Amino acid sequence: MESEVHEQLQLHMKDLGGLDVRNNSCSNNNKKKKKSNSKKKKPKRDDDEERKYGLVSYEELPEYMKENEYILGYYRAEWPIPNALLSLFSWHNETINIWTHLLGFFVFLGLTLLHVSYYVPQVADLLGHLPWYGSSLAVENASYNMGSFFVGAKSLSELNTVADHRSTAAAAAARWPFFVFLGGSMFCLLSSSACHLLCCHSRRLNVFLARLDYVGIAVMIVASFFPPIYYIFLCDPRWRLVYLSAISAMGCATVFALLSPHLSAGRFRAYRAMLFAGMGFSGVVPAVHAAVVNWGEPRRNVTMAYEVAMAAAYAVGTAFYVSRVPERWRPGRFDLAGHSHQIFHVFVIAGALAHYGAATIFLEFRDEVSCS
Ligand SMILES: [Zn+2]
Repeated sequence: MESEVHEQLQLHMKDLGGLDVRNNSCSNNNKKKKKSNSKKKKPKRDDDEERKYGLVSYEELPEYMKENEYILGYYRAEWPIPNALLSLFSWHNETINIWTHLLGFFVFLGLTLLHVSYYVPQVADLLGHLPWYGSSLAVENASYNMGSFFVGAKSLSELNTVADHRSTAAAAAARWPFFVFLGGSMFCLLSSSACHLLCCHSRRLNVFLARLDYVGIAVMIVASFFPPIYYIFLCDPRWRLVYLSAISAMGCATVFALLSPHLSAGRFRAYRAMLFAGMGFSGVVPAVHAAVVNWGEPRRNVTMAYEVAMAAAYAVGTAFYVSRVPERWRPGRFDLAGHSHQIFHVFVIAGALAHYGAATIFLEFRDEVSCS
């Protein structure tokens, strides 16, 4: 009798365990779980090994993950962290979102290391052992020869090859605003990538990562203001302080406004985009001011062209983000590749690279033209 009660109790406990797992997994798993419940005699470990986290449809998502109703399938829902981490190497509707910004992060990391190697000989020696380092310089030189589409790369290769200029350049202008921009960009791209990779784990992590993503965007926008404002208004500390304080305050206010969890919901997409776009386009004020102050400077037009390209890239990217084109035209057709968020990511990287091009020219300008 006692052993019978014990057996009943064990079965009941097993059922409760099953219920818990069902609550934390997608409905595809429910079916598998029901199957495995019928084989109650199997050891529990085997049950866990059998359970696979499949991709689910939009309807099967928990409410907090329903963000874009035009993407119909290939969702990961409430996956454990190890599974979510491994999904970096499998196909689902976030794969391209993760990789676009992860690759962007590595591009900016590479640019940062190239610049650091210019000041820290040990890093240069270390990079010299890497096979891609030499080829990256070759690519930069090639772009220079092809008409210098990427003027930033041109100046970078010059900086790296003309060693005699090292001490002069280092003494000419502070480098930290340039590294603030590179650091801000890397932080934004990496946090965005992490957000897309792990937001499928739980509601709590989803809300936290969404906030981190917004903080990353705000940090990148604020950091982008540092090189132009610092180098253009180098000789006018009052304006430098006014503009950098203003954008930093706007960044803090934006992050504070977006800390409310319900503002992460899909329906506030346009509101969020407006806040960030407002921050970005406030740069028009110092840009016009700078254009007037440096009217005779020959590099003005090139930097303006880069900054206009950056603004255009961010504007077009934001338009895709808000409108959810093309998936709204053919729901389900762009689930894996080609949906608006992926296009938005590509434009963000294009905008950041255009700004990098402008920043290297500002740096070059201040190495040659000092306040005295
Ligand atoms: Zn994103």
